[in-house]
Amino acid sequence: MQAKKVAVVGGGLGGLTAAALLARGGCEVTLYERSKHLGGRARTTEVDGFRFNLGPHALYRGGAAMRVLERLGVKPPGNIPSPAGAHALREGRLHTLPRGAVTLMTTDVLSLAGKLEVAKLLAGLARIDTGPLGRMSMREWLETRLTRKDSQALLGALVRVSSYCADFEALSAEAGLKQLQCATAANVLYVDGGWSTLVDAVERLGREAGVRLELSSRVEAVVLQAGGARVEGVRLADGTVHDADAVVLAGSPADVAALVPGDAVLAMEAREAVPIQAATLELGLSALPRPDALFALGLDRPHYVSVHSASAKLAPEGGAMVHVAKYLGGADTEASEAELEAVLDALQPGWRAKVVARRFRPSLTVSAGLPRAVNGGLAGRPAVEVPHVGGLYRVGDWVGAEGMLADASLASAEAVEQALVQRIATPQRRAAGA
Ligand SMILES: Cc1cc2nc3c(=O)[nH]c(=O)nc-3n(C[C@H](O)[C@H](O)[C@H](O)COP(=O)(O)OP(=O)(O)OC[C@H]3O[C@@H](n4cnc5c(N)ncnc54)[C@H](O)[C@@H]3O)c2cc1C
Repeated sequence: MQAKKVAVVGGGLGGLTAAALLARGGCEVTLYERSKHLGGRARTTEVDGFRFNLGPHALYRGGAAMRVLERLGVKPPGNIPSPAGAHALREGRLHTLPRGAVTLMTTDVLSLAGKLEVAKLLAGLARIDTGPLGRMSMREWLETRLTRKDSQALLGALVRVSSYCADFEALSAEAGLKQLQCATAANVLYVDGGWSTLVDAVERLGREAGVRLELSSRVEAVVLQAGGARVEGVRLADGTVHDADAVVLAGSPADVAALVPGDAVLAMEAREAVPIQAATLELGLSALPRPDALFALGLDRPHYVSVHSASAKLAPEGGAMVHVAKYLGGADTEASEAELEAVLDALQPGWRAKVVARRFRPSLTVSAGLPRAVNGGLAGRPAVEVPHVGGLYRVGDWVGAEGMLADASLASAEAVEQALVQRIATPQRRAAGA
């Protein structure tokens, strides 16, 4: 049987993974990426020997991305963050971050009643059934499950660092808690060389499987059959049309809507999507002023600092690669560079004298659409298969019922593989059995 021709639009980690999986499954795949580079938000840039991811990136070891990468044969190199040197930040000062029984008892960020409440909750965290919590907001869950403000602040900070989301009114408690369960059960990995290590590995596997990669190729529209019920191919910005049996759109909800102009359903999904955003400051330091202070998590403000190079190869010998971030969302949607600098002052006083390279981003899109409580949580996100246009699929961190962030991108890539490769395989199996 002739392989199905598939056009993948978008060469981020999600689109690349979909392309590699489909090519391995026997499809004839062409991937179009509008920029000169592959990787999208998973790109890493080298500045003076420091490997800067686009903001702090951690791979959930128990998440879908790890599972799909391993299926492809990619073994991400790196390490889990060091448990030593972790602090809580409150009113600009460092405190012990509760990470286990001993630190929970010794920290001063919780009262005795708060300690008992948090200890009980964390002991039963893995057993919380998140299924019925799709329509409950993260805020409501925190306020009903925990009676004390100090324990709510700590749990809120742990949900933020696991989900990158600070908009607890919008976020579904099901999704927020699943992220926390995933992060506490299996931890995360800081990847050696940055996330471009993953991008390069998937690109290589895709090429080996026959994926054609077209860079600097912006797709302008999906070409539909007369009546609009099925895809026919894609039209590029240079005017050329390329036919395809299936089209996989691996950009944001706005990118998807723009490629199918006049589609009211896709336009509404784009309007309704609530992105997760963050401000980030990346720093390459010649040395760490305080080598023992590696991590800080804000309890009263949505702040984060982590020395990623303490666990992964991201800096030249002796140097340090540090990420500072503020989770934006809810009532707090802005951050200045000075605000992030002040966060690092608390963890690494004297860092300014050690700066070799730096980069500030006031607002990055971490995820193109968070799982909203009003839509029923993860199950309420747009499906991989566009139901009213045959042959049209989408992949991204706002798609499908599994995971958040890159886990959602790669889980949706795998779901597209299942839909398309199964559909090729089914007639073959029938023919073999006939
Ligand atoms: C600051 C920050 C921190 C993050 N931290 C984490 C983390 O710790 N853990 C985690 O799991 N995830 C994290 N993420 C999220 C993760 O980076 C993304 O979920 C993932 O990279 C998304 O991949 P994607 O391929 O779905 O989308 P993207 O990377 O956005 O790729 C989409 C691609 O489509 C291309 N494109 C769009 N439209 C067209 C068109 N018309 N024609 C051609 N090409 C087109 C774009 O140029 C782009 O390259 C973080 C993101 C940020 C910004």
